[in-house]
Amino acid sequence: MGSCFYCKGNMKDGLSNYMVDMDGHFIIIKNVPCHKCSQCGEVSYSGETVARIEEIIAKLKEALTEVAVVDFAA
Ligand SMILES: [Zn+2]
Repeated sequence: MGSCFYCKGNMKDGLSNYMVDMDGHFIIIKNVPCHKCSQCGEVSYSGETVARIEEIIAKLKEALTEVAVVDFAA
């Protein structure tokens, strides 16, 4: 799976919560698959995951709720 960009530690599969503040709209996406460094905790996402995150954010921005919490898999 490769090593950490920062410390060269081992990257392990994991889940994280992705939070973004878009013009006062807080979007929280839970259970986002990620690679997490076992040494420094640095998190990285695959290109596929980032594309899905962007899709979810674009959809939620239209809804215009102040705080949105969604599950990545939903
Ligand atoms: Zn690291």
